[in-house]
Amino acid sequence: MPSIGIAGAGILGRVLAWRLVQAGFKVSLFDSDSKHGNQGAVWTAAGMLTPHTELEASNAVFELELSALSRWTSLAESLTGLVTLNRGGCLVVAHPQDTASLAQFNQVLQHHAARASAQAEHLDYAALKDLQPELAERFRKALWFPQEQWVNPHEVMHALATKLLEAGVEWHESSPITTLSAYTLQTPHHTYTFDCVVDTRGLGAKEAWQGFRGVRGEVIEVFAPEVELNCLVRLLHPRYALYIVPRPHHHYVIGATQIESEDSSPISVRSALELLSAAYSIHSGFAEARIVALRTNCRPTLPDHAPHLQVERGLLRANGLYRHGILLSPEIAYQLEQQLEYALC
Ligand SMILES: Cc1cc2nc3c(=O)[nH]c(=O)nc-3n(C[C@H](O)[C@H](O)[C@H](O)COP(=O)(O)OP(=O)(O)OC[C@H]3O[C@@H](n4cnc5c(N)ncnc54)[C@H](O)[C@@H]3O)c2cc1C
Repeated sequence: MPSIGIAGAGILGRVLAWRLVQAGFKVSLFDSDSKHGNQGAVWTAAGMLTPHTELEASNAVFELELSALSRWTSLAESLTGLVTLNRGGCLVVAHPQDTASLAQFNQVLQHHAARASAQAEHLDYAALKDLQPELAERFRKALWFPQEQWVNPHEVMHALATKLLEAGVEWHESSPITTLSAYTLQTPHHTYTFDCVVDTRGLGAKEAWQGFRGVRGEVIEVFAPEVELNCLVRLLHPRYALYIVPRPHHHYVIGATQIESEDSSPISVRSALELLSAAYSIHSGFAEARIVALRTNCRPTLPDHAPHLQVERGLLRANGLYRHGILLSPEIAYQLEQQLEYALC
C-alpha cells in the first residue's frame, strides 16, 4: 500500500491518519509536540459540533458542517468505548434586557429557513423549566436546537492516539517539520520520503497560505458541583457570545473569546472577568465553582473563514478550519482522501 507522511498530529492530522489506516495505507505522523501535548488549537477547543447555532458566524460553511456532523456519527462509532458523542442539544438564551439579541438571532435563522434543519424550537417558560429547570430561574424563554452535539476534544485526541498506535502508525513525536515538499518531510536530523505528504500543521503551516492569520480564543474550565446542566447553553449578549459546554462530573467549559490577534499568551483579566461573570449571570451556582484550567490558543484562519485544500502530485495541504475544526475534521479528512488518487499518480 502507498505510504503517507502526515505533518501535524492535531485534530485534522489524527482524524485523517485514522481514515487512512482503516483504508489500508501505511501512515507516518509527525508533530513538534508530544502525543499528549497541548500546542495545537484542538487542546483549547470546547468541542461543540453545532452547525445550526453557529449559522450566524459560519453561513458559508453551513452545508459542509452538516455533512461533517453526520460523519461524526461513524467516527465516534469507530472510537466506541473511548469517546462519547454527546447528543444533548443546545439552548440559546438571552437576559430580559437583551431579548433583541434573541430576536436578531432568530431572524438570521428565518433568513436561512430554506435550509430546513436550521429551524429552532421556541420554548416558553414552562417548556424551558421542563427541559432545564435550573435555567428557568433566570430566563423566561429560549430557543432549542435538539440536533446540536459535542465531544471532549482531549478525549478524542487520546482515543485517536490509542487507535493509531494499535494500528501500527509510525508516530514521530517532538519532531518539528523544518521543510515540507512533494514526497518529502524533513525534521532537524532526518529526511523522510513518502508516496504522498499531507500538511495538516494548522498555524505551523502559515507560510503556505496567503492571507493566513491566527484568531485568539480563550476558554475557562470550572468544576461546579452546584450546577446541573446536561445540554449546551449559549448566551446572547450585545458585546460577546458565551457558551457553556458540560463535561462529566460537574465540569464545564466556558468560552470563548474571539480576538483579532495572533497572541497565544495567557488569558487576560478582562476576558476572564467577562467569561466568568457571564457564566454567573446564567446560573448562580457558578459563584462557588473552582477554576480548573485557563486555556488560550489561536484558530487557524483564512481570509474567507472557510477551510481550503491545496492539491499537487505528492503533496496535499488543508488549513483554515478556524472556529469549527473539531466539527469539520471528519469532512476535510474525507475530502483529502478523495484527492489522494490524483496526488499519488
Ligand atoms: C478557544 C477555541 C475554542 C474552539 N472551540 C471549538 C469548538 O467548540 N468546535 C470546533 O469545531 N472547533 C473549535 N475550535 C477550533 C479548532 O480548535 C480548530 O479549528 C482546530 O483545532 C484546527 O485543527 P488543525 O488540525 O488544523 O490544527 P491544530 O489543532 O492546531 O493542530 C495542528 C498540529 O500541528 C502541529 N504542528 C505545528 N507546526 C508543526 C511543525 N512545524 N512540525 C510538526 N508539527 C507541527 C501542532 O503541534 C498541532 O499538533 C476552537 C478553537 C479555539 C482556539
